[in-house]
Amino acid sequence: MAKTTIDLTKMLSAGEGLRLSERVGMMPNLASERTRTLKGRIAHAKPVVSLCPYCAVGCSTLAYVSDEGKLLDVEGNPDSPISGGHLCPKGSAIFGLTVNDQRWTTVKYRAPYSDRYEERPLAWALERIAQRVKETREQTFVKSSDGKRVNHTLGIASLGGATFGVEENYLLGKLMHSLGVVSIENQARI
Ligand code: SF4
Repeated sequence: MAKTTIDLTKMLSAGEGLRLSERVGMMPNLASERTRTLKGRIAHAKPVVSLCPYCAVGCSTLAYVSDEGKLLDVEGNPDSPISGGHLCPKGSAIFGLTVNDQRWTTVKYRAPYSDRYEERPLAWALERIAQRVKETREQTFVKSSDGKRVNHTLGIASLGGATFGVEENYLLGKLMHSLGVVSIENQARI
């Protein structure tokens, strides 16, 4: 059977745009009754201006939220002077990462010398991190060096994520400085 190809440029320049649309099934009058009654997923959603959390570019997003407060989609914000509505693959994946029944909500823990991971609750992991920070600080805290007061620990470093907002970074900085941590960095600067 002979293969049929459509030469778009040729058809459009010959004024055959409408016929082309019909041939490729794009004309509204070709839509079924059911298709005409369908509404877009975010047709009635409220767009909330937000920010992509993944890097220091800071692209603006629109988070579409239903009347019940459910997140329905996240898209680039066309009003953003930085990104003009575009998002890179990471930013485009915000919705899929956030609303995802395969998202991990527990921590995978591998005990020393173990060959397998165990599932632990997030609260357990936070408690363990707090205990380890306390122990490490107590073991490595230096009050003075060369006769000068330093009050620091070189045994702990902090690497903040770009998902942190301004307030969270402020609090993290406060916490780390109060512990005497001097190695403080953030992914957004790297
Ligand atoms: S969309 Fe991409 S470039 Fe923009 S802030 Fe997010 S990660 Fe950075």
